[in-house]
Amino acid sequence: ESQQVAGRIGDLLEVLGRTCQTHEETLGQLDAVAGDGDHGQGMTFGSLGAAAAGRRALERGAGARTTLVHAGTAWAEAAGGTSGALWGAALTAAGGTLDDAGGTGNAQVVAALLAGADAVQRLGGARVGDKTMVDAVVPFRETLRREFDRTGDLPAACRAAADAARQAAEGTAELVARLGRARVLGEKSLGTPDPGAVSFSILMGAVADYLGARQ
Ligand code: ADP
Ligand code: MG
Ligand code: MG
Repeated sequence: ESQQVAGRIGDLLEVLGRTCQTHEETLGQLDAVAGDGDHGQGMTFGSLGAAAAGRRALERGAGARTTLVHAGTAWAEAAGGTSGALWGAALTAAGGTLDDAGGTGNAQVVAALLAGADAVQRLGGARVGDKTMVDAVVPFRETLRREFDRTGDLPAACRAAADAARQAAEGTAELVARLGRARVLGEKSLGTPDPGAVSFSILMGAVADYLGARQ
């Protein structure tokens, strides 16, 4: 079973890579408004690098933990940039909660997702309202925890959390950026959502789709 779990993580990483490619241009355009325009490219390089590293780990017979930890390191290296470091840390932290040998039940998947979300906040040091991906990560985390505790239904809880993240990401359009590269051109970001919050919510939507389709 442990190999099956690791294989599903590999599949999910491929899904993230394809999703980033699909949205690469839009994310780049969002980042060009008040940042340096490389967010789409960074997300694609990072996620494809993570998927490739995951594949290599799986070929060597790695379990869930090792696969995800390697994928996280590769994401940060392949992406470069602020968001790449944050996504890399998230994957590595999520992997750190898993076990190479055993299976992964729904509660363990939730724990891994929560650990990934915590890592983004810890490493980036941003608060809600700073107009960063944390603005989407926090409602995702809170909704996931609440809905999974209430219902025990992982795909539904993840769907609700991804919806909360998407709404919050859209809401960042009303904020002026105070952190990251966008702070220099902060005023220009008014009216445009934060690219990192948008990409986070898109990827969590893809995770929810993946978990729902598995049922
Ligand atoms: P870079 O800013 O290095 O070019 P990207 O364009 O890939 O990197 O990512 C930009 C995104 O990174 C922003 O839209 C924001 O969501 C996120 N970000 C920047 N600084 C922080 C931070 N301190 N904490 C959390 N997220 C951040
Ligand atoms: Mg950028
Ligand atoms: Mg950059």
